[in-house]
Formats: sequence, structure tokens, C-alpha cells
Amino acid sequence: MSIARRILTAHGTVQGVGFRPFVYQQALALGLRGSVRNCGHGVRIDVEGEPAALDAMMQAVQQQAPPLSRVCGLQVDEAQPAGHADFTILPSELPQDGSATTRVWSPADVAPCVDCRRELADSSDRRSGYPFINCTACGPRFSIVTALPYDRARTSMAPFAMCNACRAEYDTPTSRRFHAEPNACPDCGPRLSYEGPGTREQGASAMASCIEALRRGEIVAIKGVGGFHLACDAENHEAVQRLRDRKRRAARPFALMAPDLDAVRRVADASMDDQQTLSSSHCPIVLLPRCEGTALAPGIAPGMNEVGIMLPPSPLHQILAQRFGGLLVMTSGNLAEEPIATDNQEARHRLAEIADAFLFHDREIVTRLDDSVVRIEDGSPRLLRRARGFVPEPIPLETPRPLIALGADLKSTFCMAGHGLAFVSQHLGDLSGLQARRAYREALSSFSAQLGWKLEAAVCDLHPDYASTRIAESLGLPLLRVQHHHAHAAACLAEHGLSGPVIAVIFDGAGHGEDGAVWGGEFLIADRQRAVRAAHLRYVRLPGGDAAAREPWRMALAHLEDAGEPTAMCAAPDQSRIAPLLRAMKQGIAAPWTSSAGRLFDAVAALCGLCSVGQFEGQAAMLLQAASGECDAPPYPFSFSLSGAFPVEIDVRPMIRSITCDLRAGRAVREIGARFHDTLAAIITETAAALAQQEDIGTVVLSGGCFQNARLAAACTARLVARNLKVLRPRRFPSNDGGISLGQAALAAARMGV
Ligand code: ZN
Ligand code: ZN
Ligand code: FE
Repeated sequence: MSIARRILTAHGTVQGVGFRPFVYQQALALGLRGSVRNCGHGVRIDVEGEPAALDAMMQAVQQQAPPLSRVCGLQVDEAQPAGHADFTILPSELPQDGSATTRVWSPADVAPCVDCRRELADSSDRRSGYPFINCTACGPRFSIVTALPYDRARTSMAPFAMCNACRAEYDTPTSRRFHAEPNACPDCGPRLSYEGPGTREQGASAMASCIEALRRGEIVAIKGVGGFHLACDAENHEAVQRLRDRKRRAARPFALMAPDLDAVRRVADASMDDQQTLSSSHCPIVLLPRCEGTALAPGIAPGMNEVGIMLPPSPLHQILAQRFGGLLVMTSGNLAEEPIATDNQEARHRLAEIADAFLFHDREIVTRLDDSVVRIEDGSPRLLRRARGFVPEPIPLETPRPLIALGADLKSTFCMAGHGLAFVSQHLGDLSGLQARRAYREALSSFSAQLGWKLEAAVCDLHPDYASTRIAESLGLPLLRVQHHHAHAAACLAEHGLSGPVIAVIFDGAGHGEDGAVWGGEFLIADRQRAVRAAHLRYVRLPGGDAAAREPWRMALAHLEDAGEPTAMCAAPDQSRIAPLLRAMKQGIAAPWTSSAGRLFDAVAALCGLCSVGQFEGQAAMLLQAASGECDAPPYPFSFSLSGAFPVEIDVRPMIRSITCDLRAGRAVREIGARFHDTLAAIITETAAALAQQEDIGTVVLSGGCFQNARLAAACTARLVARNLKVLRPRRFPSNDGGISLGQAALAAARMGV
């Protein structure tokens, strides 16, 4: 019988997902000898035996690998048989030159699996009620990894020495915990501690004290997977209000955590698809239509008709949610726009003014991660904020050299692209704050360290004042600057693996335009190389620049003025501010031109009396959407003509005049809001369809933050599809500025000559 030997190297998400135990068991079943080990390039499988059995092993690796793994490539090398006697798992091979980890990455963090949840609830199990239970199919991953290859020694589990029982599981091929790197139990693993006024508790009594505090209506800061949450009873109105006051967050919706799907269904209308996503291993916050008349505190999501809910993302949360029984507010542990706290000492300091008590644990959070947020549209989840549970999973992207794209400034992310892959970082928030910029730089260096790439180029936005632009300039790499809305379009193309050309409709809040104006209602004819600005919403003044994004009344004034309507209709916080602002607009002082669709939403929301001064960017638009009902009336009038030179202007003044007319006639906001949404959908469809016909292009990209408005997106999609146009939208990455870094990377790759 002939014996052959092959060395297989599997690339992809292959470490920390039970890959080596899987290979081990396959080898035993197939009668193969040799070894398996993690290395800087992935997992190396050195096997010898009968050729048919070797083929079967290759097939198994490609087709039957564990559910959390993803094999992106399998390199096969023939070798001389070495006469191995058995099959073993060898210690990881460390990269020799510190530069080798290019083809392997850490998996994302995984919510507790069914088996672990069963053990957690089983009073006879030695891990019954242990908040850090995990196995090869679940547990912390990216949040605890300090370096690759993925081994306990290179995670924040390193300080915890396994007890004999845990060690035996770790070494037993048939155990669910065979080579489960974060394996732990109450005897040897991380522990909880509780600190309240005059109280300190350890272990199980820490959890009990935490739950008592929550029942009393207190606010507890709870250390989770990627950072601290601030928790309180979601049905305790006073507690929710106190949390709002202390967090200095007057309006932004709070996310909730439910113990199970039954609890979710009591407050929200969750479809089967919603329930599937809620229960998925990614465990994101899912935005759900909120039921009427629930016991939820009104302060959870003021003015919104959706509520964000997640199931417990870790065993710690599982125990907390089960024992508490009801819904808990679980909002990020930070003040206003700061990054979430991750370290115990940091949390004690930064959250002291907000939290009444703390539930700590002694496992370090290496990488800060917010909760991811999704909404189910057309049956599958669409990412609105991408972090825990999804990062660092890459997508394919060809680049000639490894490069880094620094993203935008609000909803910031960066993207490292090279070796055929693009890794988009977790959501890193608004870079206007010093702490956020520090967190961004930390994430940058930790990603760089894990990937071990030598970066050769950087890409940033055209905006000269973005903090991300300045960070890009400080890297000392050749720097390419790309236009914001072209990057939005390219991100969508890259995600779908297409090169264009497409008609890209990019509606968002703001992006620096090539003419220096603030763009945001754009129709581009775009591919991965170039973009031609074919049409845009008519320019109006952006009175006060960035201040206009926080104060929608300013945009109402700008649009009223432009449409020749009485500016007295503008509900300013103080009517005496109108005249000076009008003067500044006329003189163009601190009032750049803008085509922003986001600001048009603001203007209409302010005219409707929904939001004169906002608490956060996009709030006015969200309130307008929530207030909009159904309406049979046709869209408001607007006008454009493609006969002129590009870019043509879409005139929304007729719509503004009709809206003011409706307001004077006392028509309901729900009707005006509905017609406004329909009008935008009509503008988008008419313009995109006309351009598509003129340019002989069959695909329309819809992206930019405005398309996180599900109503607008659905209306546009339906109308465009009815015109026989193919519609592409971002799905795995947010359509807001969280996707910009991916688009920048794709544009740079194309321009560098892929
Ligand atoms: Zn598990
Ligand atoms: Zn143990
Ligand atoms: Fe944008």
C-alpha cells in the first residue's frame, strides 16, 4: 500500500474556532498520522497515509470545517513521508521575523452556544451559573486577543492557569473544550466582583448584589465583552430618566437586553427573521418595531417607533438577564460621545458620576468593542453599526500593496487592505473628542500588530479638517485623498465585488465636495476609478456650518429663504436670532453652500415642529421618519432637467413651498412626513432612472446615512426595481460613514493599479 504525505495550510478564520480539534478527529477517523498546529499563516496540517484518505482530509477541511471557521484558501504541498507514528496537536509556531501573520486572523466574539447555556442552567454541572463558561464553539475571541497565533498565552486569559479538570478537558480530543483557549471554571477562571456604596462582594454574591441593586432602581456599570455597559431596569421610569440625566444624553435611544425571545416579543414586533438574528452567534442589537402600550419607560427611545434589543451576548449577561427576569437598559458605558470604558480602574473613574455601583470582573478587555446594531430588511440583517460579533471578519479586496484607509470623522472606522483582503475596524465613534481620537489610535496600532503588515500607502478623505485626515498625514506614508461620496459608492461596489459603472445615489449629512461645498444629495456616475457628479440637490446655505447639523431650525431658515417663503415660519429657539443669521447667509459668512439631503430632512423636521434643536446628528430625520404615517396624495412637486451640462441641479423649492402651504392649511405632520418621504423617493427614482437611460447603465447604488432610513430605502428600491433597474445597497457594512474607510481602500486599490 502506498503512503503519501501532504502539508496543508488553511488560511482564513481558522484559529480559535475549534479547527485543530476538528482536524485531529478527522485524522483519527481516516487513520492518518502526523500533526496539526497554528502558525502565523493559519493552521498547518502535516498528514501522511493512504492517498484516498489524504483526499478525504482535504475535502473535509474545505467542506466540513467547524461552523465558526471560514477557510479562505488551502495551500497543498507534497512531501516525503516522515514515518509519523500517530497524530498530535503541536504547540503553535510563532512567526520568526514578526511579520508573518498575513493570512490568519482572530474570529469575532461569539455569544454563548446552546451547550454552554444548558450547562450554565444545570445545577449539577461544575460550571453551573459560572459567568465565564465557554467552549470551542463560543466565548470571547477578538476582544481578548493580544497577538496571533491565537493561543491562551496571547490572550487576556494568560494570567489564569487552568485547574486539573479544565486542563483535562483542554487535552481530551472528544471534549467540547479540547483546545478551547479561554477555557475556565469557577476554580481557575475569571471572577466577578461588585462594588456599591459601602459594599464589596466577590463571586456569586457579586451577581446577587448587582441584581438587587438593579431591582432597587439603581444604575450599575457592568463589565461586558468589549467594554462597560450602564444598566438599569427598563420598566423603571425614574431610573431611566436618572440615567439620561447623568449620562448627559437627553434623547438618543437606549438599547435593551432581554433574557429570551419571549421577553422580546412582549415589547416589540419581532418577525421570524428578527428572532433568528437576535439568537445568532453575532448577538447584535436588532432594531424592532415597538409595540404600543408596553411597560417600557417612555424615556427608552423618545419619539421613536423602533426599539433596539439584544439577547445576552455573554454568559455573564445570560445569568444577569435570567435572574433579573425583565428587560434591562444596556447602554454603552460612557459619557455622551466618549468611547466606552474597558478597564476597571478607568470605569471607576470615568463612570463614577453615572453609576451607583459596579459589576467588575478580572479578565482584561484587550480590544474595545461597542455592540453591533442591525435592522432586518428584506429578510436579512443590514449592519447599522459594526463592532462586537462581526469585527474583524474581512471581505475579499485586491490591492497591489498593503494600505490603510482612515475613514471619515463621525461614525469613524479605518480599513486595512492587503493580501487580497480588507479588514474594516470596529465602529470608533465621533473623532471630535480627545478620548475618541486616542481610542482610534489604540485600535489602529492593535490591528496593525495583529495583522503584522508593512503598510505602504494611506488614503483619507478630501476634508482638510477631519481628525482622520490629520492622523493619515501623520503616518509618513504616501497619501491619497478621495472624495467622500465617491468612497460611499466604492464601498458598496467593493462589498458586492463589482467594479461598475453604476449610478450612485449618495444621500447623507455632509461630505467635502470637490468644489469646496458641503455635498450630501449626490448622483454620481461611478466606478472604482472615477466618479462624475451628474446631479445634486440644489445648493442652499448651511448657516453656521457644523452648528446647522445640531440645530435643524437653521436649515429650515435656509430652505425657507431659498424658496422665497416667509422666514417667520421658522421656529428658532429665539426669534431674535433669525435676522442676524439671514444677514450672515446673504453675506456668505460661516454659511457654505450645501446640497445635503440629511440637512433637508432636518429642515422639514424643524418646519413640522418636530425638532428645532437636536441632541445628536440625524435625530431630526429619525423623528420625522417616526412621525410619518401613510398618505395617498402624490409626491410634492420638484424639478430637474438633464439637458444641461453635468452636474444638473434638482430644485426642491417647489416642495418646500408646498410643505409650507400644507402647514398653513393645518395638515397633519404624519401626512406631510409621508409625502416628503415619497417625494425624495420620486426625486431619487426619476433622476437615477433618467441618468441610467442616458448613460446606458443598469445598476443603481443607494448609500449614505440617509438610507439607514428604512422607509426611504424601501420606497426607492421598489420604484427603481419597477423601472427594471438593479439596486445595490451596503449590507455587511453600514451605509453611513462607518463604510467610508472600505470605499477609500477600494478606490486607492483601483488607482494604484489593480
Ligand atoms: Zn459553548
Ligand atoms: Zn478550571
Ligand atoms: Fe457620508
